[in-house]
Amino acid sequence: MRPVVLCFSGLDPSGGAGLQADIEAIGASGAHAAIACTALTIQSSQQVFGFESCPADLLQRQAKAVIDDLPIRAIKSGMLGTTDNIAMLARLFTDKMIPQDIPFVLDPVLVANSGGSLGDEATLVDAFITLLPFATLITPNTYELRALSGLKDLHGAAIGLCGAGVNAVLVKTSHDYSSGDINQYLYVKGEMVHQSVLPRLPGEFHGSGCSLASYIAGRLAQGDDLIAAIKAADQWMIKILAAADQPHPSDPSSQLIPNRFL
Ligand code: PLP
Repeated sequence: MRPVVLCFSGLDPSGGAGLQADIEAIGASGAHAAIACTALTIQSSQQVFGFESCPADLLQRQAKAVIDDLPIRAIKSGMLGTTDNIAMLARLFTDKMIPQDIPFVLDPVLVANSGGSLGDEATLVDAFITLLPFATLITPNTYELRALSGLKDLHGAAIGLCGAGVNAVLVKTSHDYSSGDINQYLYVKGEMVHQSVLPRLPGEFHGSGCSLASYIAGRLAQGDDLIAAIKAADQWMIKILAAADQPHPSDPSSQLIPNRFL
C-alpha cells in the first residue's frame, strides 16, 4: 500500500485546518494519512470558539491500533491540545512503539492563525520543548519559533533550538504579514542548508501551516530527503493557495480556505 503518515491532529469543523488539511495534503503528496484525533475544536473558517481535548489514554489507543496495523513511514503532529497528549507522544518514541528512524514532522501548534487559543500556551511551550528532540523537522511559524526559543531573531532562534537538540527547523515568514515575500530557511544541526523566497499571495489562509507540514511528511514517507520534500511542498502550496476558496466574498479580509483538490 501507499506509505502511511500517522498524524496526531485536531478536528477543525470548517475543514480548512487540522486533520482534514492533513488528510488532503498527505493524499495529494502520494501517501496515505492515518489520524489519531487529539481534540475536537469548535471553530468556523474565521474564528476559534473553543475545543475539547482527547484524553491521552484514548489518543494512545487510537495510535496503537494504527501502528499495529499499517506500514507507518512518517509521523506528523499538529494541534496536541494538552501537555498530557504531548507527553504521551514522547512516550511512544521512548517506549519504541514508534521507531526512531521514522521521519517525524512536528508542527508546534500553539494558537490558530485567527489568534484563537488551541491550548494553554505557557504549559504547551514547556511540554513541546521535551518533544522537539524526537522530531526530524519542526515547522513553527514565527510566533511559535519565538515562543519556543525565547529569542526574537529568527535565525538565532533556529540555531538556539538546534543547540537544544532539535534536528532541523524550517523557518518561514508566511504568518508574518509585515514581510513582503515569504522567506524560508532550513536549519539542520545549526547550519542553514537551504533558503528560498516565495511569492506572498494576497489574503490570509486558514490551514496553510498544517498543509505545508503534512505535505512534507507525505514526501518524507515516500523517501524524499528534507530539501526535496520542502521544495515539492512549496510548489504545491503555491497552487493550492492560488486556488483557495473565499467563504465571505463581501469581506476581502476574511480567511481563505486552501483548495487542496487540484
Ligand atoms: N490544528 C487545528 C485543529 C486547528 O484548528 C488549527 C487552526 O485553526 C491549526 C492546527 C493551525 O492551523 P494553521 O495551519 O493555520 O497554522
